[in-house]
Amino acid sequence: MHTQQEIQTQYSRLPELLLPWYRANARDLPWRRTKEPYRVWVSEIMLQQTRVEAVRGYYDRFLTALPDIASLSSASEETLLKLWEGLGYYSRVRNLQKAAKTIMLEHGGVFPQDYKSVRALCGIGDYTAGAICSICFEQPRAAVDGNVLRIMARITEDFSPIDLQETKKKVAAYLENVYPAGECGTFTQSLMELGACVCTPRSPKCDICPVKDFCFASKNGTQAELPVKLPKKEKRVEERTVYLLECDGAFAIEKRGEKGLLSGLWQFPNTLGRKSPDAALQAAEALGVQPAELCREVHKIHIFTHIRWEMTGYHIRCRVKDNSFTWVTPEMLRTTYALPTAFRIFLDE
Ligand code: SF4
Repeated sequence: MHTQQEIQTQYSRLPELLLPWYRANARDLPWRRTKEPYRVWVSEIMLQQTRVEAVRGYYDRFLTALPDIASLSSASEETLLKLWEGLGYYSRVRNLQKAAKTIMLEHGGVFPQDYKSVRALCGIGDYTAGAICSICFEQPRAAVDGNVLRIMARITEDFSPIDLQETKKKVAAYLENVYPAGECGTFTQSLMELGACVCTPRSPKCDICPVKDFCFASKNGTQAELPVKLPKKEKRVEERTVYLLECDGAFAIEKRGEKGLLSGLWQFPNTLGRKSPDAALQAAEALGVQPAELCREVHKIHIFTHIRWEMTGYHIRCRVKDNSFTWVTPEMLRTTYALPTAFRIFLDE
């Protein structure tokens, strides 16, 4: 356990070591070439729960289609969901649009600069507000995510669980005390970069770390024990049967309901529970598609934050295109309809 004075000293030395290191080593990422709040905001929302490499293509495509706040606020839901297809956590893009509408209505279409107004926008929490205000507006606001919590837990050898709000608040308060004037954005990005490239969750690269000489965890060999996390809740397992109903090269899809998981997105018809091939053919009969042949059985798993779907898919050739479904070719599914990854994985088959 280190004293408050020791911890404060650890924080205060960060800018002088991290800023030059970041300037020499930062990765060239598309969203780092701008301080335009709309672009930084879109990148930060995309990067939540998603890897940098996965975001690159989406970021360019999204901004080409919706280059500013006005176009985002007026985009159709279908366009939005298609642009987000495969990124997951679709509430993120819905919240982006809600916030864009608020900016149009309440801020004259101009991204607000004061922290409170930024934080009040839909889908923007402490982390994103801190990132935008420090990167775009040079404000001493910390952006504390899992990466930053891990780094600071190690540098200060802090064994408080990082899932606790009070731990996040404590780290944010310490950091905001040492934000360097005129370099706030660079400081935020240097912390993100250190967490992403050097102080990684497993096997941190202490030998090349710019803060290795004063990091308590490195000194005491406690890197692997930090950060401390509260035990995770077990994911609920849900078995589902997915009907890949095909008629003349077209597949049946339908829209999910307006509420809950993957709301408003398209899906292959599916039911709870795992059906046998015979029961699946009977179910297809009840759907009015006159099944002719069961071609294939496929097993897929998709993991959401709290649920794990264990899916059995049946490719069933049918004689009738029942009107209760929309019938589309695989090509149309790829180009036009927003099909979430949980179902898109069947397309590969
Ligand atoms: S010295 Fe090692 S543990 Fe400490 S911050 Fe650097 S990479 Fe992380």
